[in-house]
Amino acid sequence: MTMSPLTYIQVASGTTSLIIAIIFFMAWKTLGDRPWAMRWSLAFLFSTLYWLAMLGAGRFPSHASFWLLANAFGIATITLALRGHCQRTQCERLPKNLWPIASLIFAGVAWTTLVQPHAGLSAAILPFAAAVSLLMSATMVIRHREQTRVAEWASAITMILFALVQLPAAWHIYGLGPDRDLVMSQLFSHASVMFIPAGLIGMAMFVMFMLASDLYEDMKEIAVRDPLTGLLNRRGFGEQTIVAYATARRTVQPVSVIAADIDHFKSVNDEFGHNIGDKALVHFSRLLMAERRVEDIVARIGGEEFLLVLPGTDIAEASAIADELCERLAASPMAVDERKVVMTASFGVAAISDKDASLADVVIKADRALYRSKRAGRNRVDLESSQTLRALDGSLKTGTI
Ligand code: GH3
Ligand code: MG
Ligand code: MG
Repeated sequence: MTMSPLTYIQVASGTTSLIIAIIFFMAWKTLGDRPWAMRWSLAFLFSTLYWLAMLGAGRFPSHASFWLLANAFGIATITLALRGHCQRTQCERLPKNLWPIASLIFAGVAWTTLVQPHAGLSAAILPFAAAVSLLMSATMVIRHREQTRVAEWASAITMILFALVQLPAAWHIYGLGPDRDLVMSQLFSHASVMFIPAGLIGMAMFVMFMLASDLYEDMKEIAVRDPLTGLLNRRGFGEQTIVAYATARRTVQPVSVIAADIDHFKSVNDEFGHNIGDKALVHFSRLLMAERRVEDIVARIGGEEFLLVLPGTDIAEASAIADELCERLAASPMAVDERKVVMTASFGVAAISDKDASLADVVIKADRALYRSKRAGRNRVDLESSQTLRALDGSLKTGTI
């Protein structure tokens, strides 16, 4: 049996689509919560069905039934692919439900097949819709964050290139006119079809690369964040302070560090249990985060030990901030059922000096001040220089839980 080159292309496209559908399905199963991977898997499954329909064109009871089914599969493919990109990039411009639009496109195919037959127009609708949705997906991928990643550029460029093949193809097919035999005989010998296997593989590979890069970014984020409070952990703190130190030196701006440690936190756990202890840590971290500027660095570097780096803030301003935090914590107990968890914390404040070779040196000074604050009775703020110890309002009961 001899097969035409067209059949080879159809078989290649169908099997390629199926393999890609399986790969995206596995990605959806194994790469965490990424529902868009499932959409792309379904998109490629419909693409497989499209090519199967193309292969079996001769077996349909009528040309119209074959044509409508194949187009339905094709439209489902592009709708699911577009929805997947929209979901991943959290686009807000497109409606959540694209199926009414897809139905309209299908109605266009049906109209030009059954009601006012025009083979060229009917065949041009799918590649045109594919091109438009590819361009929309590419725009979403490029625009959804300030700094587009390499994988996103690669993915978007492949989509744009594929769309640029589809658009003239659609125009050319439309130009073949209403005569069905002419359109069908030329449809698959067109460059668009020749590019399809490569286009499918290219787009899928780059989208997969994009998923891998999403995963990498997520892992990087996990590595620098404390899962309980969402604040930076010690590693994240270290990375960000390198940048903050360099900026401070370059701009000749002050930087201050506040070290904070919850007082007698062990007894919160003892009295209320570890779960409430965890909630108390979140409570305190929210208090630290409130009113912070984007350039401020807030980290949980140990169990109940926190650090704040305040760029452009001198020791006087930083100590005022620490005073406020200290007072606010004591004044805002955490409600647990009928009871209240009253917490206090001790603070040490230090500012950068010419002698400091890194922010780690400033952290050491702030830690020393914090230690003094603990020794002097807790629930207070101490500054780095040993002379400037300042007790807080004596009415606050120190160390009370
Ligand atoms: P001090 O006033 O001297 O700071 O006393 P403290 O009890 O706060 O300090 P200490 O270092 O003796 O105890 C810290 C406690 O913090 C011990 C540990 O059980 C608790 N802790 C550390 N990490 C966590 C955590 O993630 N969740 C909870 N619930 N408790 C934690
Ligand atoms: Mg403590
Ligand atoms: Mg401690």
